Amino acid sequence: MKAKISVTGGKGGTGKSTIAVNLATLIARERKLVLADLDVEAPNDHVLLNASLENEEPVEIMLPFIVYPKCTRCGVCAQVCDTGAIILTREKLPFVIPRLCSGCRACYYACPYDAIVEGKRIIGYTYKTQVKIDDTVFTLVTGVLREGEEHTPPVVLAARKRAMSLAEDLLLVDTSAGTANHVSIALEDSKLVLAVTEPTPLGLHDLELILELSSTLGLESWVIVNRSTIGDISKVEEVAQKYNARIVAKIPYSREIVESYVKGVPIVELYPNHPISQSLQALAKTVLEVI
Ligand code: SF4
Ligand code: SF4
Repeated sequence: MKAKISVTGGKGGTGKSTIAVNLATLIARERKLVLADLDVEAPNDHVLLNASLENEEPVEIMLPFIVYPKCTRCGVCAQVCDTGAIILTREKLPFVIPRLCSGCRACYYACPYDAIVEGKRIIGYTYKTQVKIDDTVFTLVTGVLREGEEHTPPVVLAARKRAMSLAEDLLLVDTSAGTANHVSIALEDSKLVLAVTEPTPLGLHDLELILELSSTLGLESWVIVNRSTIGDISKVEEVAQKYNARIVAKIPYSREIVESYVKGVPIVELYPNHPISQSLQALAKTVLEVI
């Protein structure tokens, strides 16, 4: 049976994607793994893995079209649209603003004169890329929200579905930062949540939010402290204890990890004997023991 593990972080820039790509690289040596980059507004796992996105599939949502000869200018469609995507002109003619439309179909069902028909528009893409690092091979599924689009959840859902259909043993998910609705969608059904944080006041604040969300969803959480040497780790321990989440790794700041970003090679491959690689190897082993 396939298990799902999610790497998340309340705050952007905590090194969540670094943890995800390194864990994926290590676990893929033991299990058939799919890594899903569901940070659809700024996906970067492929950059950290120096991989080009392949096998593009569009993500479409419904877009209403007004059949003007049938439209009586009653205004009902604009009243039911809760995103403000339908405006009425001075002459009471409805006009759809695609960027604001979530594709919910409320206007389509509410129009009393069948003056709305269903169209489609592309709001993003999913990709399936084969990643090869020496003898290690795994699939990376990436969701990408189209520039200028605001409706993130359908792209997260489409990428999650594509990744789930490909995963055999393990699906490792890299979520967006924060606690928005699309992060909950990405976390859903996870056997384990790995919350990445750093020992700074903002890191602590956002860790608390993500642990709260995870606990609300009934998920088990572990904490990974990145850049563990830059602040007071006892505060992270207090927050983790409050949510019954154990701290499973402390990753110090190092120049070698920056070098691994630049080269697009995970540090566990670039410097396998580095203390950070050893911490990540221990983490991967612990994860493998529970799935
Ligand atoms: S589909 Fe939903 S969001 Fe889009 S215009 Fe109609 S009511 Fe508004
Ligand atoms: S609800 Fe239908 S008929 Fe009424 S303004 Fe909208 S499109 Fe026209």
